[in-house]
Amino acid sequence: MNELNYQLEQLKTMNEELKEKERMYQLVSKSAVGAFLYCSFEKRRICALGQWEEFFEFEMKEMNDIFQLLEAVDESYVSKLRNILFLESQGKETAIAECLLKDKRTWVSFCVRIYYAEGGQPTDKVIYISNITKYRSQNEELTYMAYYDSMTGLYNRNYFVRLLSEYVKNASEYNHVISIMIIDIDDFKNINDGQGIMIGDELVQQFGCFLKELCRGNIIACHLHSDVYCIAIHAPNQKACVEVIYGEIQKRLKAPFKLSSGKEFYITVSIGVAEYPEAATSALELINCAEIAVFKGKSLGKDVIHYFDSSIMEDFMGTIELEEKLKKAIANQNFILYYQPQYYSGSKKLRGVEALIRWQDEDSHFIQPSVFIPAAEKNGAIIPIGKWVVEQSIKQYAIWRQQFGFPFIMSINISALQYKKEDFVESVVGNLNKYGVAPNEIELEITESVLIEDFNAVYEKIKILKEHGIRISLDDFGTGFSSLAYLTRLPIDTLKIDKAFIDTVMTDSTTRVITESIIHMVKALKFESIAEGVEYEEQYHYLEEIGCDVIQGYLFSRPLSPIQMEVVLKTEGNRVE
Ligand code: C2E
Ligand code: MG
Ligand code: MG
Repeated sequence: MNELNYQLEQLKTMNEELKEKERMYQLVSKSAVGAFLYCSFEKRRICALGQWEEFFEFEMKEMNDIFQLLEAVDESYVSKLRNILFLESQGKETAIAECLLKDKRTWVSFCVRIYYAEGGQPTDKVIYISNITKYRSQNEELTYMAYYDSMTGLYNRNYFVRLLSEYVKNASEYNHVISIMIIDIDDFKNINDGQGIMIGDELVQQFGCFLKELCRGNIIACHLHSDVYCIAIHAPNQKACVEVIYGEIQKRLKAPFKLSSGKEFYITVSIGVAEYPEAATSALELINCAEIAVFKGKSLGKDVIHYFDSSIMEDFMGTIELEEKLKKAIANQNFILYYQPQYYSGSKKLRGVEALIRWQDEDSHFIQPSVFIPAAEKNGAIIPIGKWVVEQSIKQYAIWRQQFGFPFIMSINISALQYKKEDFVESVVGNLNKYGVAPNEIELEITESVLIEDFNAVYEKIKILKEHGIRISLDDFGTGFSSLAYLTRLPIDTLKIDKAFIDTVMTDSTTRVITESIIHMVKALKFESIAEGVEYEEQYHYLEEIGCDVIQGYLFSRPLSPIQMEVVLKTEGNRVE
């Protein structure tokens, strides 16, 4: 009897323990984000656990109910799901499938695991189901932004330049001709200033949509910037195509654009046309030539189409008088470098400085690089200027390194043309040796546009620079996104998120989603991230929170003259001690 009592007690305790365990498993599975499906092959039992109702309206009562899952997903995912739902038939252990549900909104991940007995026969199956809609939409958004302009749905500038570069390569092989049309809305500034940006944006969007209808086959279009679009035509009869497109645009503009406010607007456009290979032989130069043709056309009166020829180029250079001035400035050494500090977001310690060129003209006015660098790039003056920048910044760094006794990073902006120069690598390395500077304390900044045109050539140069131990950073990232796919292949150290992004990060949730994705990606690729143009405390706090490594912007410091920079270095030096 005693023995029986003892066994009864034992059973009671076991029962309680079992109940406790069951409760625990139920709570755990209920609290899990997602649902589980458990099947026992031996007992032919199936049950659903966790948040099942959040995904599916049907219940899981018997083994065959599993087929209902195939009816819940979008048609195009049925076979993919079927493949992994019955993984035991392939003798495999695990598999994952991402499927879209029938509602066409919810993305679900099915993660299947099969357990086998020693003899190899399947005993149990567990399927973990989770909602991945947010992650998928982030990815889709990134992919979309890699190719398209979100306002108009046309290609974005960077992707367009890439496609155009391919056209150019093709055309040079087969002796084809390509036409580029730049289309610029006349008096757009008046519309924007007078009617407001919202109206301006809607007009840009509507006209962009209309241009999209004109694209087919080898006719592609992009939204270049503000009210400017570009069409590239790579067809045997491209000359006739330009006329047809021009005709269609003229026809469309006879009718007004009806905006959502009810207002109607008539617009006119000016068009510039340049041809490969007559005007230029690279994508960016071609666009440039067509832009110069529009510029010329507009100066003669609006609502025109103007074709590029070499006299326009000479004219253009003459009118801006920049060429001569630049030549003089180089001879008289009227350039000076300013330095903008970059700080680690957590410790606020100095990470490095970016050298930014300033041009002091005869009247001691400062001319900003955004004004003269593009002109210097056009006429080749960037080569001697760039050479001076590289030497001056390395020399200055050597002096400061010696004077203040601690290392930091000197970032130097490099133009596409400089990379193309054969002796570029030697000249950088030569300066490092001359001034006794460690290569890993120097960082060269390249922009996406450098990469787009001739990825392979630039890639080879970067590889050699990296072999010398020099750091490479990708500047102005985020405006075009087209180098996203290249990122995994590029041996870069740092990625600088463009100011345009930082500007809207606090007000635009899409920008936030993308910025966070970029930072995650940068971390996964083990690069360093720098946010450019940080002006406000709240931007800084947000960026620090999402894991951005380095902050550069007016909030911490504007670009400083060498004398001002020395004060910063002195303070930093005291901090180091
Ligand atoms: P970047 O390389 O993206 O340089 C950052 C620009 O953002 C600098 O303009 C800097 O003064 C500005 N900036 C930094 N923080 C803030 C901020 O918080 N708010 C605002 N509004 N602006 C901020 P900067 O000096 O006018 O240079 C413009 C561009 O000119 C540079 O863009 C770079 O692409 C080019 N550049 C400058 N120096 C050189 C150079 O030596 N060589 C070459 N090739 N290009 C240069
Ligand atoms: Mg830069
Ligand atoms: Mg930048």
